[in-house]
Amino acid sequence: MDHHDLTDDERELARLVREFADEVVAPQAYEADRTKTLSMDVVRQMGELGLFGLPFPEEHGGQGGDYFALCLAIEGLGRVDQSIAITLEAGVSLGAMPVFRFGTEGQKREFLPDLLAGEALAGFGLTEPEAGSDAGATRTTARLDGDEWVLNGSKQFITNSGTPITRFVTVTAVTGEVDGRKQISTIIVPNGTPGFTVEAPYDKVGWHASDTHPLTFVDARVPEANLLGEPGRGFANFLHILDEGRIAIAALSTGAAEGCLEAAADYAKKRTVFGEPLSTRQSIQFTIARMQLRVHNARLAWHHAARLRDAGKPFKTEAAIAKLTASDAAMDNARDATQIFGGNGFMNEYAVARHYRDSKILEIGEGTTEVQLLVIARALGVA
Ligand SMILES: Cc1cc2nc3c(=O)[nH]c(=O)nc-3n(C[C@H](O)[C@H](O)[C@H](O)COP(=O)(O)OP(=O)(O)OC[C@H]3O[C@@H](n4cnc5c(N)ncnc54)[C@H](O)[C@@H]3O)c2cc1C
Repeated sequence: MDHHDLTDDERELARLVREFADEVVAPQAYEADRTKTLSMDVVRQMGELGLFGLPFPEEHGGQGGDYFALCLAIEGLGRVDQSIAITLEAGVSLGAMPVFRFGTEGQKREFLPDLLAGEALAGFGLTEPEAGSDAGATRTTARLDGDEWVLNGSKQFITNSGTPITRFVTVTAVTGEVDGRKQISTIIVPNGTPGFTVEAPYDKVGWHASDTHPLTFVDARVPEANLLGEPGRGFANFLHILDEGRIAIAALSTGAAEGCLEAAADYAKKRTVFGEPLSTRQSIQFTIARMQLRVHNARLAWHHAARLRDAGKPFKTEAAIAKLTASDAAMDNARDATQIFGGNGFMNEYAVARHYRDSKILEIGEGTTEVQLLVIARALGVA
C-alpha cells in the first residue's frame, strides 16, 4: 500500500529498500534462519547502500537524513527478514546513536565512521539477569583504579555483540552512590578486552539470524576515557535511546505485519479449497481486510512518533503507543497469515512461519507490552 505522507526522497528510499529487500534479503532469509547465521554479505551491502548512516549528519560519515528515514528502511527490511531488520535497528539506534548523542568529539571521530558505513557494529548492554524491565536494578559495577575502569558483572540478550565486525559494547554499570542512590554510567568496552567474554549465542525461538549473546565481565579493564557521556547520567541517557528505539521497533513490526498481509492475500487467491479459491470465502476476505487495518494503524502510529521526534517535540508516549500498536499488529497478522496458509503455515520454508516465530519478541524487546502500558498510564497520571 502507498505511503501517502512521504516526501519524494522518502518515497525513493522506500522503493530502493523494497527492491533490495526483495532481490537480496528475501532469497537468503530461509537458509540464514535455518542455519542461525547472520549474513555478513547482506550487512556489507546494507552498509554500501548507506543504511547504517541514514539518521546522521554527513560530517560524521552519515547520509544527512533523519530518524524517519531510518525507520522507513527498517520497515522495508522487516517485511521480508526480521533478523536483518533488527541488525540494522540495533546497529544504528542502539550501537551508533549513543556515541553520536553522548560521545566526546574524540569518541565520535574514532567510532562513527566505521559504524555509519556498516563496517563495524556495536552492542547496547543494558539488560542483566536481574535487571530487565526494571533496568535501574543494574548490578554490573565499574570502579576507577588509577586511570582505568574495572568492570565486573554480566549482561544478557545483547544484540550484535558477537558478530565478526563487532567493535565494542556500550554497557551500563554502577559507578558509585550519591545520596544513597546508585550512580549508573555508560562505558565503552571494546571486544577483545581481557576479562570481557562474549558467551555462546542463545538458542532462540525466532530472530535466528540475529546475533544475541550473554556477556560477562571479570576484572575487565578499559581506559577512563571510555566513559560515554557524563558520569551518573548513564541510565537516563539509555532510557532516552530506548524511547527512540521503540519507534524503530514499531517500524520493524509494521513491516512484518505487511509481509504477512501480502503473503496471506497472495496465498488466498492461489489456494483452491472445495473447488474455489480460498479468497472467495468471506471469512477469509474479512480476516485479510483486518490485517490491512492493523498495518495501516501501525504505520500511522510510527510515522506520527517519528515525525514528532524529528521535529524536536516530546514523543515518549507516542513512541510507546506506536510500539504497542505495531507489535500487536505483527503478532496478530503473523497468527492470521499462518492460519490462512494451513499446514504450510507451520513449515519453516514459508516466510509466514518465520514471522510467526519472529514476531513474539516484538512484544518483549526494547520494553515489553506491559512497560509500554505503564508509560502510557503514567502520561495519563494514573500510574
Ligand atoms: C532477542 C533479544 C534481543 C535483545 N536485545 C537486547 C539488547 O541488545 N540490549 C539490551 O540491553 N537488552 C536486550 N534484550 C532484552 C530485552 O529488552 C528484555 O528482555 C526486556 O526488556 C524484558 O526484560 P526481562 O527479560 O528481564 O523481563 P522481565 O522484566 O523480568 O519481565 C517479565 C514479565 O513481567 C512483566 N513486567 C515487568 N514489570 C512489570 C510491571 N511493573 N507491571 C506489570 N508487568 C511487569 C513484563 O512485561 C514481562 O511480561 C533483548 C532480548 C531478546 C529476547
